[in-house]
Amino acid sequence: MKIEKTREPNKKELNNIRDTEKMLSQEKKLPPAHQMARNLAIDMWRSFKGMVKGQKLLTDTNKAKKRWSVCEDCPFLLYDEVNPDTNKIDGRCIECGCFMNIKVHFEHSQCPIGKW
Ligand code: SF4
Repeated sequence: MKIEKTREPNKKELNNIRDTEKMLSQEKKLPPAHQMARNLAIDMWRSFKGMVKGQKLLTDTNKAKKRWSVCEDCPFLLYDEVNPDTNKIDGRCIECGCFMNIKVHFEHSQCPIGKW
């Protein structure tokens, strides 16, 4: 079947195409859901082990700020993901899929590529 172009797309259609392409390109970048669940489970396990050993769950503010500044300069951070817990636009790591504004505060969390 041959597709013929009968008219130019209007502005609304072009915006929809642009939004869809942006959404699809970002979906491709994030790890699959099972990988994100696995990463989250690993982080929770590390935190649990630390708590059993009497270590603190949350890190201090300075350490969290240093981690966040590393993430801010990292090409693997996406900025336009809405965090379902806070309902705010948040930075999200495309390596682990985590919302970094939260993850940097957990003492036993680790950058998946060893940057912090
Ligand atoms: S956790 Fe690591 S890979 Fe992810 S954004 Fe931060 S520095 Fe980059």
